[in-house]
Amino acid sequence: MKKTIVNLCRLVLATVFILSGFVKAVDPIGTQYKIEDYLQAMNLGAWLPDAGALILSVVISATEFCIGIFLLFAIRRRLCSHLAVIIMALMTPLTLWLALTNPISDCGCFGDAVVLTNWQTFWKNVVLLAAAIVVMKWPTKMVRFVSESNQWIVVNYSLIFTLVISAWSLYDRPQFDFRPYHVGTDLRTGWMQMMEGQESPYADFFIERMDNGEDITEEVLNNEGYTFLLVAPYLEQADDSQLDLINQVYEYAQEYDYPFYGLTASGEKAINLWRDLTGADYPFCQTDGTTLKTVIRSNPGLILLKDGVVIQKWSHNLLPNEQELEKPLEESTLGKMPDDTVGKRIVRILLWFVLPLMLLTIADRLWAWTKWIRRHKKLISYINKKEVKMRKKIVAGNWKMNMNLQDGIALAKELNETLKAEKPNCGVVICTPFIHLASIAQFLDQNIIGLGAENCADKEKGAFTGEVSAEMVKSTGAQYVILGHSERREYYKETPEILKEKVLLAQKNDLKVIFCIGESLEEREAGKQNEVVKAELEGSVFNLSEEDFRKIVIAYEPIWAIGTGKTATAEQAEEIHAYIRSIIAEKYGQAVADDTTILYGGSCKASNAPELFAKPDIDGGLIGGASLKAADFKGIIDAFK
Ligand code: PEP
Repeated sequence: MKKTIVNLCRLVLATVFILSGFVKAVDPIGTQYKIEDYLQAMNLGAWLPDAGALILSVVISATEFCIGIFLLFAIRRRLCSHLAVIIMALMTPLTLWLALTNPISDCGCFGDAVVLTNWQTFWKNVVLLAAAIVVMKWPTKMVRFVSESNQWIVVNYSLIFTLVISAWSLYDRPQFDFRPYHVGTDLRTGWMQMMEGQESPYADFFIERMDNGEDITEEVLNNEGYTFLLVAPYLEQADDSQLDLINQVYEYAQEYDYPFYGLTASGEKAINLWRDLTGADYPFCQTDGTTLKTVIRSNPGLILLKDGVVIQKWSHNLLPNEQELEKPLEESTLGKMPDDTVGKRIVRILLWFVLPLMLLTIADRLWAWTKWIRRHKKLISYINKKEVKMRKKIVAGNWKMNMNLQDGIALAKELNETLKAEKPNCGVVICTPFIHLASIAQFLDQNIIGLGAENCADKEKGAFTGEVSAEMVKSTGAQYVILGHSERREYYKETPEILKEKVLLAQKNDLKVIFCIGESLEEREAGKQNEVVKAELEGSVFNLSEEDFRKIVIAYEPIWAIGTGKTATAEQAEEIHAYIRSIIAEKYGQAVADDTTILYGGSCKASNAPELFAKPDIDGGLIGGASLKAADFKGIIDAFK
């Protein structure tokens, strides 16, 4: 149930983030305008120059898109779910403020593709915030669509894809145009409807002559045949790198008698400057600046109308060239609406982005599946041929610094009675503070429950006040000792060299070593868990002979899961247990690896033990908190029933 809810929330979040990142990426200038609107509404307009707002627009769209894709594929689950919560926690109050004060009519969450009212946006964000919190609480419940080793392909591909889309949309025009001036729009009809008093997006669309202020919108839109409109919202900021091509188009329009107008919101001075600079003598008309920014996302950009319908749009970077202007529009492809429909563009996106990722996912899942089958087949064939003796399953308790002598004895007695009455299906060990050992050894049935210490000294004997040697531990009647626990490594600075000495002394005194390894949260987030466990084994136990190594029990304990309530998922634990076994196989051979007991430790409880212990490479658990009550500990032991 929990898993289903988390995955539903994750899919909703992923879809919204991908959609909102994508529509922003296809229209970076539109997003830039929206950012500027926000800053103006907060009186911070002067704070960020246009170029800064544009860069921010690209960064925001790429971030949203990538977080969406990562959530979809369950990549860097903890990091992404935290980022989603941070973003939603910032956006929700911001949109509440928008809804209450209404300084901007449309939040711009989905560019021009989906326009929501400010209250709709706020409630949408409340739902997304709740979904993000659910996902952040149980990030590891998100089912992966791609294995960790291949996720870098998705990461890089998505980032490159969104940046290329943004760059291409900036160079050309938005690859998907959701505005009411897209190619194919019948401006004439739209404008007429507006004049008849119907609701229309063209309320601010007007064309006024500069010389006498006469409104010629109707004349321009009613012109039968072709009309060129050079759109430059603000001439002062217009790109002047393609002036020759603009003049060429103007000369072409004159040659074939097509009307050509310059539309701008700039005043006389800027127009005269432009004329001086370009030698332009086409007529300039006045239009609303915001409307012109909506008409075309290029300053300047060129539009071709035919009978009042927008049939072509060009950014200043991709104006028609000399060859294209050889024939009159009636005979050339320029005069026809391009057959590059929205459908075709969607197919292109599917082919270039969705299909490769789908193929990658299928290949990755097949690979993971065949790996799993191979491992299981091998195991089954071993068992069938009785080539291996099944390695020992163990549930070991680590009491840490808990229980006074009386309470410890009571707990050990209760366990002793319980397990004598109902024999466990696995080896059971309790590792207690030193002071308990001798007393508990008196009554514990060590055929059922092994007794161990939680540490021993790295010196044989002598003037080491407060230390307890391996020999002393052995003399109490204990058989086991835990070494290398992360708490000892961290709080008592036990280095690999010190641990190496302890292991040698423990084995010299015939103690069975439960050797702990595991990575910190930062190391896991950096994907270094394999490196860390390998180094820990190499540093302290890979020096042993094969015979001595066979006596070691390994306990994999991710530090981030110890005592935190966060358990590694069974899949995560199995993945690294299999890796540990593989490096043991590399060092000592497959037979030794197959016989080595590898325990899992870290918030293991009766509720999650069955799933963990069912994994082929997990041979039981090292249990902290849940070993302090007989019933809890017994619940875990029962996972082997
Ligand atoms: C431990 O410290 O070995 C341990 C696994 O602790 P807990 O079960 O409390 O996470």
